Amino acid sequence: MNVLVLNCGSSSLKFQLIATGLEQIADNADRRLAHGQIERIGGAAIITFTAENRQTERSAAPVRDVRAALETVLRWIASDSSNIEGINGLADIQAIGHRVVHGGEFFTESVLITDEVLRGIEDCIELAPLHNPANVKGINAAREIFGRALPQTAVFDTAFHQTLPEKSYLYAIPYQFYRRHKIRRYGFHGTSHRYIAYRYRTINKIARENVNIITLHLGNGCSIAAIKNGNSMDTSMGLTPLEGLVMGTRSGDIDPALIEFICAKEGLTVNEAESLLNKQSGLLGISGLTNDMRELAAEAAESGDRRAILAIEIFCYRAAKYIGSYLAAMNGADAIIFAGGIGENSALIRRKICDYLSWCGAQLDEAKNEAQTAGHENIISADSSKLKIYVIPTNEELLIARDTVRLIETGSPQQKNLPTK
Ligand code: AMP
Repeated sequence: MNVLVLNCGSSSLKFQLIATGLEQIADNADRRLAHGQIERIGGAAIITFTAENRQTERSAAPVRDVRAALETVLRWIASDSSNIEGINGLADIQAIGHRVVHGGEFFTESVLITDEVLRGIEDCIELAPLHNPANVKGINAAREIFGRALPQTAVFDTAFHQTLPEKSYLYAIPYQFYRRHKIRRYGFHGTSHRYIAYRYRTINKIARENVNIITLHLGNGCSIAAIKNGNSMDTSMGLTPLEGLVMGTRSGDIDPALIEFICAKEGLTVNEAESLLNKQSGLLGISGLTNDMRELAAEAAESGDRRAILAIEIFCYRAAKYIGSYLAAMNGADAIIFAGGIGENSALIRRKICDYLSWCGAQLDEAKNEAQTAGHENIISADSSKLKIYVIPTNEELLIARDTVRLIETGSPQQKNLPTK
């Protein structure tokens, strides 16, 4: 089955075309056929398309909205010039899987999209006003173009964390705000944490309920999850993706009272302060240079820039503190796993985080850490290490494609409490 995986953002559309099926899943033999993205939708868009094993095609063109972006992608997929293996036209796309950011408390797993499901996603818009509207537009555009007969699924960033117990998802604010407005911690990057946990148990040939690990998704956005008996029991992102680790441009944890303080001192509105915490903080804010870890590491190494070094120090210190707190919350774990652009590629960051962890029996094998190459799953701890350390490249798109196949083959779970209108 060829599944088109769509990730529609407010000004971008990313896609992958993946050939998969129950047999391929069992053999880990799914294949990506093509991928690409359209950025700066709404203006002069930048278009990047790649058919596997072929040269990337880059172009620029005005693209009005999400629907126009999807039409541009589909025209390319169907064209002779794209030369995608096994694809002769749109009829060769058998399903679409959408990445949806927020599923609130409605969605605890992936679902086939129906009118009722779509209403549920719309109801989550107030929880993710920047993200869910774009997801809804993507779903509607695909339904208009392909009709209702083509199966479409929604895979939620929040769903994996719906197993969080109350003690980790409730904020210590008056309880009625949870009841009235559903203010609580939801967590994000759930598809990534779930994929990493799935690969860990596959590599080690263990049952889901024996998975006791801490997963670190360290990319431009960063989060960490405590996975006990196969379920997410805590994670660092909260009501929004702002909470938790230091990220490229997000502050992560702060004292909430500083918002009022900054507003008063700098003459900002609350909206402006929130934007500052989301877009001008984190690695960028501390270094004053860049949100890009690779550039920061180069700057620190080549010129010894004090603030670049400081940004890296704070990033690693915060990550290590979270690992320590999750080890306490879980009563110990079997492994910590690095993923995401930074987690997969930066031996320096992995080493600096692991330097804090000798107390709990985590011992990095320096040579394996340095030898780790992008795209490979590896153990990088010493043989004697009590707490194992892994690098497992994440693959959210693959999991979305696999969920889509499973839902089509085995049916959608009943969703409870969906809004009725
Ligand atoms: P992602 O959001 O997962 O694509 O990750 C993006 C982040 O990964 C950026 O901060 C990149 O600088 C970082 N990254 C990618 N490759 C490397 C590398 N070799 N060393 C350090 N950071 C890297």
